[in-house]
Amino acid sequence: MTANAAAHGTLFIISAPSGAGKTSLVKALVASTAALEVSVSHTTRPMRTGEENGVDYHFVAADAFLKMAEQGAFLEHAQVFDNFYGTAESTVVERLATGRDVILEIDWQGAQQVRQRLPETVGIFILPPSREALEHRLKGRGQDDQAIIDRRMRDAVSEMSHYAEFDYLVVNDDFDTALDELRCIVTSQRLRRPVQEARHDENLQLLLKESGH
Ligand code: 5GP
Repeated sequence: MTANAAAHGTLFIISAPSGAGKTSLVKALVASTAALEVSVSHTTRPMRTGEENGVDYHFVAADAFLKMAEQGAFLEHAQVFDNFYGTAESTVVERLATGRDVILEIDWQGAQQVRQRLPETVGIFILPPSREALEHRLKGRGQDDQAIIDRRMRDAVSEMSHYAEFDYLVVNDDFDTALDELRCIVTSQRLRRPVQEARHDENLQLLLKESGH
């Protein structure tokens, strides 16, 4: 793949520890922003209640996933906790080429791989407002035992330890404020000169034409 994303859409990576509210924020962001989509990842983890194949994830068996990886079908892939996750390269590249912006909701390992291949990628990290709030959210409905909650907390701290590898930090204290901040990031990326030059190329040429007088 060529690293020529500037002339096309922008690729955003959004990462967060589980419990930071990333998925709800991204859903709301995409629903209210034109020409912005989320890439649907492949995963080997079991489908959860309420999830839909092809919408939340492409749910695949481990052997099918590993075959795709072997064939180089993934822009990035990683083992996250106990399962494999990956972003199929072809769909992302095609969408960016049509001028649409694409969001990858992936973990820090995938973010590192994408950043290496496409340095123009914009990284956003979402943080919970406090340790207490995170713990509260990870406790879910209070049906899980302490060992499971402790493991989730350890995993969350491990994910958060990579926050400094991202360009933007959004603290999800108030949902609407965090959503507004995400919209601001997308808008400011769209206003960057190389992106605007590509979009307004024709008009810029007309504006800069020497006049007869
Ligand atoms: P969950 O199983 O709760 O949906 O996601 C678990 C973790 O996997 C989250 O941190 C999520 O960002 C990450 N993840 C989801 N899809 C991908 C992917 O395609 N690649 C990578 N590297 N991580 C992913």
